[in-house]
Amino acid sequence: MPRFKQTSDILKLMGRKECIRNIGIIAHIDHGKTTMTDSLLAEAGLISPKIAGEARVLDYLEEEQKRGITIKTANISLLHEVDGKSYVVNLVDTPGHVDFTGRVTRALRVIDGAIVVVDAVEEIMVQTETVTRQALEERVRPVLFINKIDRLVRELKLNPNEVQSKLERIIRDFNNLIEIYGEPDFKDRWKVNPYDETVAFGSALHKWGFTLPIAQKTGIKFRDIIQAYSEGVYEDLSKIIPLHRAILDMIIKNIPNPIEAQKYRVPKIWRGDINSEIGEAMLNCDDKGPTVMCITNVQVDPQAGLIATGRLFSGTIRSGEPVYLVGARKEYKIQQVFIYMGAFREVVDQVYAGNIAAILGPEMARVGETLVDAKHRDVMIPFERIRYISEPVVTVAVEPEHPKNLPQLIEAMNRLVIEDPNIVITINRDTGEYLLSGMGELHLEIAVKMLKDYAGFEILTSEPLVIYRESVTARGEIVTVNSLNLQNTFKIQTEPLEEDVTKLIENGILSDDIERKRAAKILIKEAGWSEDSAKALLAVDKYANVLLCPFSEAQIPTDIYESIIAGFKWACKAGPLCEEPIKGVKVRILEAQVAKDPALRGPAQITPAIRKGILGAILTSKPVLLEPIYKIEISTPLELVGECVNIVRKRRGKISSSEYKGFITVVSGFIPVAETFGLTQEMRSATSGRAFWQCSFSHWERVPENVTSELIKQIRKRKGLPLEVPTLKAFMEVTS
Ligand code: GDP
Repeated sequence: MPRFKQTSDILKLMGRKECIRNIGIIAHIDHGKTTMTDSLLAEAGLISPKIAGEARVLDYLEEEQKRGITIKTANISLLHEVDGKSYVVNLVDTPGHVDFTGRVTRALRVIDGAIVVVDAVEEIMVQTETVTRQALEERVRPVLFINKIDRLVRELKLNPNEVQSKLERIIRDFNNLIEIYGEPDFKDRWKVNPYDETVAFGSALHKWGFTLPIAQKTGIKFRDIIQAYSEGVYEDLSKIIPLHRAILDMIIKNIPNPIEAQKYRVPKIWRGDINSEIGEAMLNCDDKGPTVMCITNVQVDPQAGLIATGRLFSGTIRSGEPVYLVGARKEYKIQQVFIYMGAFREVVDQVYAGNIAAILGPEMARVGETLVDAKHRDVMIPFERIRYISEPVVTVAVEPEHPKNLPQLIEAMNRLVIEDPNIVITINRDTGEYLLSGMGELHLEIAVKMLKDYAGFEILTSEPLVIYRESVTARGEIVTVNSLNLQNTFKIQTEPLEEDVTKLIENGILSDDIERKRAAKILIKEAGWSEDSAKALLAVDKYANVLLCPFSEAQIPTDIYESIIAGFKWACKAGPLCEEPIKGVKVRILEAQVAKDPALRGPAQITPAIRKGILGAILTSKPVLLEPIYKIEISTPLELVGECVNIVRKRRGKISSSEYKGFITVVSGFIPVAETFGLTQEMRSATSGRAFWQCSFSHWERVPENVTSELIKQIRKRKGLPLEVPTLKAFMEVTS
């Protein structure tokens, strides 16, 4: 079929929703997702008029190709014909490493189906399970592609019967996942079966694949494939049974179109009233309804500006129209609308509901944002916030090789955080260091590589460092602190924040964004706080700390509130032990004597005094250091379990369970992030690469007492601080 089409033809097709499929490919790392995507793009990718004639692949980022893992979520659009009818398949690319789980979650929001790629030799692995579970939770229908069949023949030398029983086991285990994680209304209908064309087999490397109906049509049997490999003529297979046909046939026949899918997906991913005007328009995928788009990818195009990609759940998005970002609370005019042709964007006038579109204009658009037409700005309930299950726990310091390039580096960093919300950038004002924090070693390595690409020059980085937290374990003394001019005095006390309040902040239910009255209500209802305590809440800090200031406006002039809060936030950023952020601390201001003359109670007086008071109070509250802990899951053949357990234990890890899954044993446990550097190499050499493992952030835990003081010294040394932790007196001293 000619894949070169005018955009107007494609737009016409996109207007017929029964001809659209929005899908993703998900897999355990190395099972062949990238290879398959490349093959689909090469054989079925729409060729845009702009680049017709040039051969391109999805992984245009050099980095992705080099590493063989897909980093950036990009959309590609494919064209495929079944029974003489044309279809557009939008393939939202998802990365295959757990460090990027945040990205996978975003992509799942906009797709209705997923091809789960499983390596026939390794079978179902931990991450197959994780991503399949996530898909089922978002009501994304999974179908199965069993890849690397060539390895069964060439490496394992299995005979047809053995091949069959191995494949049956994979299908059975996969259906088991659907049974465990699928919702009752879907799980029976969604189980896969080769006879229903919901399972395909093949080799992405050699570009062939088939489903049972294709096998019947072409007369090909497993026996023929084995023979083709033994005679060395397997290249012909890609002509007789091309991979893209098997995969795209399977998708078009089994994955619902947007009209069918939105009926059951919208109630799951959107919390608004289904019977409202917007609710009904989304349920029906109505082009004429309010414009609603869920943004799942943001890229900064150095020439054009910020390009947001997402799915249009209802309405028609047109250039020149006013739209509203619900989260950012900002109105914009759409400057340009694009569709994807293959992996490239083409400008169009408008895109209809049910499709993936890209837009230029809303500069504040971020991943997870909900965009609505300006007319409906006040009635739109946003899509559920996408929760990141990981916290940034590893940091590197970055600097340009030549200091004169710092401004460009800052620009590149700003771009990076827009595109990857899992990256956090902080500036150490004392040392002038720029710190890049992410979810793990690999995540940061890739972020730095992207920075280099964006900036266009060499960037120097420190070794990866773990981020710690400082916390308290007891109610401390009442500490008195004076401002520099001695005209303002505060009495401050700190104590551990209740676990349930910490959770409320960590889950984003309680934050500084919400009004104080509402915050107080939440504390009373969800955490059982008394009305007086709840009313005293003055500020909430993102690291899970709160500030209580139980004074009326008559007692403390309101003009100093901002200065008090600034002092609190400053203290939260860097605790007294080693200037790591503080976490889980409740700060109370018990007394305040404030100068009558406003000139004597300015921010320069109040803010540093509050900060010092808090840091001093923490020193009297039995302070501790917390370290981040990963959950680790290792899949390994049975005979290597002992080896893996030893490695984890040696690195201060704990094993929590070990599950025998018939073909593989999954060992789960916890390991301090600080002990995971270099784990890849050790695991690989100890198991000859046969054990696979993944880590994800789990929780914070107290650093063992016997290593705490040494660790604090190390961190202080690294930061150029005096080695000894300051005494309470140091914070109370008044210097002038
Ligand atoms: P991803 O991490 O899931 O994207 O996996 P890739 O597509 O990067 O594949 C990982 C490795 O498996 C690469 O070395 C591929 O060449 C190889 N590979 C992919 N598909 C096949 C296949 O069908 N047969 C064989 N033998 N190797 C494959």
